[in-house]
Amino acid sequence: MKKNKQTIAFKLPIGGFQKQSLIDYPGNVSAIIFTQGCNFRCVYCHNPELVLQEQIKNAKRFNTEKTLNWINNNQKLLDAVVITGGEPTLHDSLPAFINRINQLGLKIKLDTNGTNPKLLKQLIRNKQLDYIAMDVKAPLELLKYREIVGENFNSTLMAKVIESIDILKSEGIEYEFRTTLDSLLVISDIENIIDSISGNYYLQLIHKDKDLQIDQNHFTVAVLKKIASKPLKNITIYIRE
Ligand code: SF4
Repeated sequence: MKKNKQTIAFKLPIGGFQKQSLIDYPGNVSAIIFTQGCNFRCVYCHNPELVLQEQIKNAKRFNTEKTLNWINNNQKLLDAVVITGGEPTLHDSLPAFINRINQLGLKIKLDTNGTNPKLLKQLIRNKQLDYIAMDVKAPLELLKYREIVGENFNSTLMAKVIESIDILKSEGIEYEFRTTLDSLLVISDIENIIDSISGNYYLQLIHKDKDLQIDQNHFTVAVLKKIASKPLKNITIYIRE
């Protein structure tokens, strides 16, 4: 059967849908779409039901058209739609899905791990996005990155992450970079990341996890002190709890 844009949009795998959020796209009331599937396996990932195939196959999937209909019928309650995951850029149907939101006049924020620079550039140049939040998981070194995101990470994906950083810095879209402060990272790692990026940079605390006995508070204070002690150009750093 010949596919049209609407048919493709129906197939965006949506594993979660939050109807309203005040925090995910600051300054905007947004609905949040969580897509299924991810090409990373971050050590701190708290969304296994969106990442692991064995959990995805048993998880609830939201009907794409019904989700779009809800957004359409309630657009007066919203400023924006946030698309997150998982990793949304894995899906060929993403541009068609975003196009349906664009037609409603709602803003779009896309969260990404940066492994699909080609699609990012396409979406930016087609003016389909208003804001991109990109994870920079570690310093831009293959082995360090792999420690955080899992053993399937390779030099091709590393090059794609670097390309995506360059795209965000050069394409004139509003963006942020962000790093989750996993205990595998040290202060010099954060400093290395800072040397590779520009703009708004968010350091994200990991929520305390009793099972893993992670408590990042000492690390965060140290990061703040160290970073605050040196002058920084073209970058503004925030802590996000
Ligand atoms: S990129 Fe995000 S969704 Fe994917 S494994 Fe890492 S934390 Fe989980």
